[in-house]
Amino acid sequence: MADTGRVFGGHRSIFFKLFLIYVVTTVALVAAVGGYGRMVLRNDDLRQTRTRLLAHSLRAIIEELGQPPDRSRAVQLAQETGMQVRVEEPGSSWATDDRLPDSAALKDAHVHNDLGMVMGHDRGRRFVILEQGERRFLFFFGDKSRFEAEHLAVIIVLIGLILGTSYVVVRRLFRPLDWLGHGVEEIAAGNLAHQVPVRSRDELGRLTVALNDMVTRIRAMLQARDRLLLDVSHELRTPLTRMKVALEFIKDEPGRNTIQQEVRELEAMVTELLESERLNSGYGGLQKQETDLVAVIRTLADVYRTQKPGIRIDAPASLTFALDQHRATMAIRNVVENALKHTAPDGEPVEIRIEKTSHIVRVSVHDHGPGIPREEQGLIFEPFYRVDKSRTRATGGYGLGLSLAKKIMIAHGGDILVDSQPGLGTTFSLIFPPCDPLAVR
Ligand code: ADP
Repeated sequence: MADTGRVFGGHRSIFFKLFLIYVVTTVALVAAVGGYGRMVLRNDDLRQTRTRLLAHSLRAIIEELGQPPDRSRAVQLAQETGMQVRVEEPGSSWATDDRLPDSAALKDAHVHNDLGMVMGHDRGRRFVILEQGERRFLFFFGDKSRFEAEHLAVIIVLIGLILGTSYVVVRRLFRPLDWLGHGVEEIAAGNLAHQVPVRSRDELGRLTVALNDMVTRIRAMLQARDRLLLDVSHELRTPLTRMKVALEFIKDEPGRNTIQQEVRELEAMVTELLESERLNSGYGGLQKQETDLVAVIRTLADVYRTQKPGIRIDAPASLTFALDQHRATMAIRNVVENALKHTAPDGEPVEIRIEKTSHIVRVSVHDHGPGIPREEQGLIFEPFYRVDKSRTRATGGYGLGLSLAKKIMIAHGGDILVDSQPGLGTTFSLIFPPCDPLAVR
């Protein structure tokens, strides 16, 4: 079955790629706008004015603190404004908060400006240093680290919300693509009754409607084909029977045997077509009864005991469960005959293995023939499909055997699978799922 790929699954999905593009674009946009904004703000006139005003105010505060600077006034100022002060002079130093670092500890990010101020930030705090003779004033503003941590948390929650919402929206938008993928898989597997739900009027909605229409038309065409085949098969039955009877009255005419063989083949084809149709239509459903599958297969193999290269059976003594003996024999016979037809008479014998697991009974028919080209393995179960397009007497057939076998196995609730290695051989596995595993004896 073609792998149409999951829309939401894996890192190769369109959904994942689109979402990644969205995230990268958002991050790039935020970085670009943010970076540009910071650059503009840095060169802003207002910022320069603000710095000058700051220098002016701090000098006024130094004046206010007096000579020598009054510590209690500084503490009061710290309480009123939240700005902390440290004063350093040779031999003595004090601060409004003892945890404030001294100027020697402030190594990073110092910027000297033309106003005689040193500005910078240390562990999330902004600071300004002003010197007056030998005395040095350090002013500390706010606790930026706490501020940043709080804002970072808000930003992360906001980004999470935005990304989460877009994830849900994009996922909803892409859901029809997932339905479409699933629908195409169903249709490829032969379920032509499948209709993909249409929930939108956008391009995906229109594509879905077109796909549904296409499948409906294909279904109608296939039904017309089956109808035609069935009608023709019905019509052929009577003349074929008459021909068979008429042939009985012809005595040893040259070519009689050939005509008889052709009539037999045509009859087999008509029977297979009618049998397929009966299984399809639901009439003539399976006639199941307790049957020993091993005995059935041994009897079948006995018919071919003189045919080279022969058959080898590997099976338990018996396996009895409910199956339609007539139909199951038909399916197995088609597969066994194919295996014998495609193996050279002096080759390895055909191997039939019958085994039971806890859920299924499997009959595998293995031959050492030429195998089936990989690209044709999915097609051989279609009616009238033949790998060798020229119908020769050696490999006979109309390409109906496997399609009938598949219908029979599906009617049993099982399946038939092929595993073929071109040049090495082929294994067909017929799977019977017993309704009640305990019923298999
Ligand atoms: P037919 O009656 O023409 O054999 P089937 O439906 O039984 O038709 O098989 C379809 C095609 O699959 C055949 O034409 C044949 O080429 C190919 N095939 C079936 N079984 C085998 C096998 N065991 N080895 C190689 N080719 C096979």
